[in-house]
Amino acid sequence: MFIGTPLITEEQIQKKVKELAYKISLDYANKDLVVIGILKGSFMFFSDLIRYIQTPLKVDFIIASSYIKDKSSGEVKIYYFPKEEIQGKDILLVDDIIDTGFSLKTIREKILSMNPSSLKICVFLDKTERRIVDVPVDYIGFKIPNKFVVGYGLDYQEMFRNLPYITVFKKEIK
Ligand code: 5GP
Ligand code: MG
Ligand code: MG
Repeated sequence: MFIGTPLITEEQIQKKVKELAYKISLDYANKDLVVIGILKGSFMFFSDLIRYIQTPLKVDFIIASSYIKDKSSGEVKIYYFPKEEIQGKDILLVDDIIDTGFSLKTIREKILSMNPSSLKICVFLDKTERRIVDVPVDYIGFKIPNKFVVGYGLDYQEMFRNLPYITVFKKEIK
């Protein structure tokens, strides 16, 4: 089993998740909140986050994957999309990481076309240096340097999602 030195430890993660959930709880008091997690990467962050949010909410998911076609365009494939509960609702999209921005831009526009009452985005990690398209992000866990990371839901070839911390992936110590 690959064990890297944490870039972000389990303790730092849990502290940050509680802070984000606290802010979200205040912002969404008396709202019609639906938290939508983008799978698979957000599953661990999502489940930790929602258990600390103290305002009533519903949950749903989007299953999507993306790949970069060239430097200026990304292809986002959507396998599952919520069928109801978007129009008139206060939607909070939750993702593991924002990198180029293509995935969240595409998903954000699709949700907006369904007339939610409001739409905000929460990401666990932000790799700002790599951004190609602009996406407004309302809640950010950690800003990280331009390194490929795994753990806490994020994978390398579907592995390492179960690590409770974030580490930089290095092929040679796999
Ligand atoms: P985007 O480039 O569209 O902003 O991000 C697309 C997806 O690429 C993310 O949701 C995530 O699944 C994946 N990704 C981007 N950077 C990393 C990284 O450092 N590690 C891992 N495991 N996945 C990443
Ligand atoms: Mg993702
Ligand atoms: Mg992945």
